[in-house]
Amino acid sequence: MGTPKEEEKKPEQSNTVAFLLIIIMIGLFLLLIGEYDKQPEDANVYIQAGHEGRVFGKTGSVSQYGREMDWNVTVANEATRVLRNAGVSVIRAAADHKRKSNVQLAISIHFDGSKRVCRAGASVGFSRSSNRSAVRAWKRLYSPIFPFRWMRDNFSKNLSRYYNYYYTNASDAELVLELGEISCPEQARWLKPRLRKLGRLVAYFAAQRIGASGVAKPRF
Ligand SMILES: [Zn+2]
Repeated sequence: MGTPKEEEKKPEQSNTVAFLLIIIMIGLFLLLIGEYDKQPEDANVYIQAGHEGRVFGKTGSVSQYGREMDWNVTVANEATRVLRNAGVSVIRAAADHKRKSNVQLAISIHFDGSKRVCRAGASVGFSRSSNRSAVRAWKRLYSPIFPFRWMRDNFSKNLSRYYNYYYTNASDAELVLELGEISCPEQARWLKPRLRKLGRLVAYFAAQRIGASGVAKPRF
């Protein structure tokens, strides 16, 4: 009596196996699509708004003057708009874009926050000595405009070992630009009404680096 019962079960088992196989095949298909989607992207410039899109973890600094994430987005969007208007191709990335890209110049926008207010200022992060010419060019451009202190280059590991360097392959440079300290009242009051103008400055800088014309230097 035992044997027929087992045989009765067999069609059910093969249905289950077939079902599982279909699920596995759909999974593999989705994985393949996912991988295809992660092929490197090419563009002239890569612009990342730091912390953008995150709801937990490193979501950026906050002060009574605003959220760093929002400021980063404002600057990055304006820089992207101006560059695209000038015919420059831009990958506009959020914090966790996690896709490799081949570009000439990669820029990540940030504002610093400090528990001891006004101990920070503007700074630059980069990973390779080949980036130094772009670092100097940015500081030559922004130093006469930004009327507050500068931190030394790569003063923190967040700058020298920025996680997103892994994703950007840039022929000129990949830089983290800290544009000022959002938690310092003097700096924040100066920065806040100038965010879009800072975006235009970043666009001008990028255009200069890659030799694109048609981007004017904003007046401060
Ligand atoms: Zn930041």
